[in-house]
Amino acid sequence: MKGSLIVVSAPSGAGKTSLTHAAIDRLAAINHDVTFSVSYTTRDPRPGEHDGQDYHFVSMDRFEAMIADGAFLEHAQVFDRRYGTGRQRTLEALDQGQDVVLDIDWQGAQQVRAAYPDAVLIYVLPPSVEILRERLAGRGQDSETVIARRMEAAAAEMSHWPEYDYVIVNDHFDTAVEDLVALLRAARLRRCQAQDGPVGALARTLAKNPSLP
Ligand code: 5GP
Repeated sequence: MKGSLIVVSAPSGAGKTSLTHAAIDRLAAINHDVTFSVSYTTRDPRPGEHDGQDYHFVSMDRFEAMIADGAFLEHAQVFDRRYGTGRQRTLEALDQGQDVVLDIDWQGAQQVRAAYPDAVLIYVLPPSVEILRERLAGRGQDSETVIARRMEAAAAEMSHWPEYDYVIVNDHFDTAVEDLVALLRAARLRRCQAQDGPVGALARTLAKNPSLP
């Protein structure tokens, strides 16, 4: 059975990363085979980030060579940095029956939708503009101008939520995790995913024996 390609997008400050990691842990605990895609980026690592774990940190030259080789499933420019999802690793994981969660922006989501119409697109929204502002203001060390720029970027990103299949409002964290788990469980039960597995075997038997004893 092939895995499902799952896109999760959100503005920064919506809590997407903790949400997706918590959902993946919950699914792993019930043997739902799911993996988180590690993107390539040209930006520098932030404190606490590790190469190969949070991102594959690469130079602009390497990134451009990868584009030329067709090595990306999708890629985009976010602010002045480049981000992309590796094609080979993702397709191999799907072929092996693993669901793959891509934490990518709206530009990447549009490319995935065009190339893989069966992909499931999920948008995570913050509960309110006030709460988003509080989260983006961080520990009060940033200027009003910096916060205003972050709010503007968040608004531009959020304007794309109607292009997605599902929307989760990250109001109560545990409920939002449950919602995300439910969507990944449902994606796995779709007919297009199931037809190669036990459901397919049963369907083929039924087609050969329309009148079962
Ligand atoms: P950050 O630099 O804060 O980790 O990520 C900035 C933005 O880039 C986030 O919206 C994130 O979802 C997006 N992003 C991360 N990896 C990828 C990717 O591989 N492709 C695309 N299109 N966007 C990505």
